[in-house]
Amino acid sequence: MNINEIGVVKSRFTEPTNPTEMKKHESTIIIKEEFIDGLFKIEDSEFIDVVFGFHKSKGYDLKTITFTGELKGVFASRSPRRPTSIGITTVNLLERKGNELKVKGLDAINGTPVIDIKPCDNSFFQANNEAITVGNLKSSPRRQIFSHILAGETDKLLLKAGQLHGHFCPGLAMGVMAATYVMQKIKVQSDGMENLLAIVETNNCVSDGIQFVTACSFGNNSLIFKDVGKTAFTLSKRDGKGIRISTRPEAGKYIHQTKNNFSGQYQKVIKEQNRSDEEIAKLKKAGIETAFAVLNLDFDKIFKIEEIDIEIPDYAPSHESIICDKCGESIMSSRIIKKQGKNLCILCAGNKCNELNGFGIRCNVMHH
Ligand SMILES: [Zn+2]
Ligand SMILES: [Zn+2]
Repeated sequence: MNINEIGVVKSRFTEPTNPTEMKKHESTIIIKEEFIDGLFKIEDSEFIDVVFGFHKSKGYDLKTITFTGELKGVFASRSPRRPTSIGITTVNLLERKGNELKVKGLDAINGTPVIDIKPCDNSFFQANNEAITVGNLKSSPRRQIFSHILAGETDKLLLKAGQLHGHFCPGLAMGVMAATYVMQKIKVQSDGMENLLAIVETNNCVSDGIQFVTACSFGNNSLIFKDVGKTAFTLSKRDGKGIRISTRPEAGKYIHQTKNNFSGQYQKVIKEQNRSDEEIAKLKKAGIETAFAVLNLDFDKIFKIEEIDIEIPDYAPSHESIICDKCGESIMSSRIIKKQGKNLCILCAGNKCNELNGFGIRCNVMHH
């Protein structure tokens, strides 16, 4: 193989940084004089592929936690630590001045040796665009969300969390902020298979921000609800080393100082139960303004952070289904009640069951 250094990268980044952040900035590629003729007509290409050396990277692991927070093989990732330390990135060519190419989107640090440049060939992508998008979403449904997390784009996360929560409010924003902070520390994506566990200490708007950003939910058994009534949550990997974030007692006052609109309207609609369409619409509007304003507040004035050890429950068991002899519906075997030789569901047996509702976990008698 012939590998030549044809140029070098000039960038504001001198140390390896989050590639999403690096790609937002412009950098320059300086081509060596002897290769200048090779740039003839390069301006025709709006996008070019830059091939470069990971000159600071040492060693490699065949399996690695990637920048997208997933465990992947090195050839299934863009990790700089690889058997052949070569990177390739498609960038926007902004301008050529002699032997200097001004580009945007290059995730290579200052001093990176450039090995090759070629116009980007996206014909395959053009033909298969939709299939690729769908394929990416199937194999890594939270890829985009995780890249928002790494880039600290809480506004984009809040916008999406609204799709789960149905409205915008300071609580949802607080949940998004707290969960983004912890996810950035933990740097691992939830695989929806209990690799991460979130423990929430109250069921309010905050919990939805946490569920959305961490992907720890009731449905995938990664969300634990402790009916303590504190606006606090803990996130942990299965090693039991958790990070707990709680709200400071003075946080409410601090948040309400920024916008009084929301708390007044909240008082009217929720506390005084004035649920007319007009008042609810006003509350929603105030919620949007306040929620997005909260994201810009001082994190440390709202939250307290501590490292705690937590007890990790076993993986959720899988139960077989059994048919209730009275109602004929299928039930998890762990919920069966045996009565006079019959298998009954809790309701048909006339027993009380626990219920999580707006009041917390309550024991209720349910009737058909
Ligand atoms: Zn809410
Ligand atoms: Zn039944």
